[in-house]
Amino acid sequence: MVAPTFEFATAGRIVFGVGCARKLAEIVASLGTRALLVTGARPQRFGALLGSLQTAGNVVDSVAIGGEPTLTQIEQAVERARSLACDVVVGLGGGSPIDAAKAIAALVPNRQPSRTYLEVIGLARPLEHPALPVVAVPTTAGTGSEVTRNAVIKAELEQVKVSLRHASMLPRVALVDPELTVSLPREVTADCGLDALTQVIEPFVSRLANPMTDGFCREGIVRAARSLVRACSHGDDLQARSDMALASLFGGLALANAKLGAVHGFAGPLGGMFEAPHGAICARLLPGVMEANADAIRRVGGSAQQELLGRFTEVARLVTGRADATIEDGTAWIREVCAALGVRGLGAYGLTSDVVPTVVEKAAASSSMQGNPVALPQEVLAQILTAAL
Ligand code: NAD
Repeated sequence: MVAPTFEFATAGRIVFGVGCARKLAEIVASLGTRALLVTGARPQRFGALLGSLQTAGNVVDSVAIGGEPTLTQIEQAVERARSLACDVVVGLGGGSPIDAAKAIAALVPNRQPSRTYLEVIGLARPLEHPALPVVAVPTTAGTGSEVTRNAVIKAELEQVKVSLRHASMLPRVALVDPELTVSLPREVTADCGLDALTQVIEPFVSRLANPMTDGFCREGIVRAARSLVRACSHGDDLQARSDMALASLFGGLALANAKLGAVHGFAGPLGGMFEAPHGAICARLLPGVMEANADAIRRVGGSAQQELLGRFTEVARLVTGRADATIEDGTAWIREVCAALGVRGLGAYGLTSDVVPTVVEKAAASSSMQGNPVALPQEVLAQILTAAL
């Protein structure tokens, strides 16, 4: 066992609890006087909250992002925010508007072409100036974007989802109110919840896992496992909604500091090429990736083998609640939950076997793949993807 060395960074302040969203106007006012509000496509769902912001009077413009943010949408919003001299950005909605808010806040003070800073399709240069402060208010429970330092953007031209990433993009305040997720339809609750579950499992088996992220992952796995199905079937159960909001938050805390793995390595290119919910993609791939990782670790052997396999076994015990569960019991539990929640094969979103090589090549080059506990050869990645069609 090696003595740990790590860093941990997160949002400046995390406010959690049923009803805490009513502090939004006050928090925004403490950070700036000219706010840009970024929401999802139907912000009127949160009428009372928006009313309090309007009354406070410092929102100078708003942008609605329906679906995952595209580079074009971000660049247009950056121009507007610059022309209005915005000094704070509020992201209210799911991961899509929160990521959009973070990307806009990063690019407003950084005036090089946006590709200068983008990963994978750009030069991935660090921002020259810190991002504007962001207040992130999630209304889904899945991405944990309220406490991560990246924004995922869809590059239409290259058909890939890529990140803009910088330490200053960690939101200044994460305001997490589980009550805001009560209006989520069952299907979106399931897709987002499966994303949350994946995001507490992948950092736990990541090669960059550390004792601090481990604690968040363990707690998040238990909460997601006990409440995911309940939050879908009883959407007004605030206990289940709170568990899922915490699992999502803990996933964000963990992934921002310990990275992810092959599931998210695939999800980047797949999300760029096909219209499919991010969580549904993740869930469909999760058991196959876990099995391939466990097989590869057994084959590689070495001193780290027992510890890594122990982590996969612990995941199985945490999700099933059984002290004697094996790795195979854990992946079987994930498959059962996916079946109960109606997770479909990736073929249902248009993925066919002829694009498997392209997706595998893009996945292998993704930043998430760096966290995978063991290097998976491209032929193994192709087998995982083919099995998930
Ligand atoms: P989303 O933001 O796209 O929202 C999904 C749907 O739910 C939308 O139709 C939205 O209008 C609706 N919705 C949101 N809140 C609602 C509510 N309370 N009631 C009813 N409907 C509501 O989905 P998401 O899963 O939250 O975010 C997905 C995006 O987040 C993807 O682009 C993914 O790549 C990104 N992501 C980012 C990070 C990160 O760390 N930055 C991590 C994981 C995922």
